[in-house]
Amino acid sequence: MSPVIKPVITRDQIQNRLRELAAQINKDYSGQEIILIAVLKGVFIFLADLVRLLDMPVRVDFVRLSSYGDSSTSSGQVLVTKDVELSLKDQHVLVVEDIIDSGLTLKYLLEHLQKQQPKSLKICCLTDKLERRAVSVHIDYVGFVVAKGFLVGYGLDYAEDHRQYPDICELEV
Ligand code: 5GP
Ligand code: MG
Repeated sequence: MSPVIKPVITRDQIQNRLRELAAQINKDYSGQEIILIAVLKGVFIFLADLVRLLDMPVRVDFVRLSSYGDSSTSSGQVLVTKDVELSLKDQHVLVVEDIIDSGLTLKYLLEHLQKQQPKSLKICCLTDKLERRAVSVHIDYVGFVVAKGFLVGYGLDYAEDHRQYPDICELEV
């Protein structure tokens, strides 16, 4: 049976919320330069939309992480498979993520980035599955707080499929 794909956050809702998020980020970093660290691959569309709404000088870099252990739930055992290339020392760094679920991946990444001694380190995520959090992490900019269903579209995949949908959808298998 093919999966049911149900839009839960529409393209218009996403664009409206992104304008609000960007306005807040522009205000908070006014007069400063920032480095966006985007976590591949699901974030690519969110990053592309967000970066074009930012006023300050922005540099962009990418990391790719893979969590090993049980594949369906995050184990917290994370491997950096593509590391940051820009120097983060004394820079304002904003991590851009698609989804924060247990928070384990993000916690690992923050510790990893902190080793480079950035001037500041904040987090912006498109969606936050707050009720599933296993470790406490402070998220500075949240697009949408969502329930626990599995999300695809707007860059998000299930086994590499469904990334191209303009809306954020829930996948029911
Ligand atoms: P965490 O370590 O916070 O549990 O895992 C977060 C990562 O798991 C996200 O960055 C994302 O890559 C993936 N993930 C968690 N929930 C979903 C979901 O509903 N849909 C998709 N496509 N990925 C998810
Ligand atoms: Mg991710």
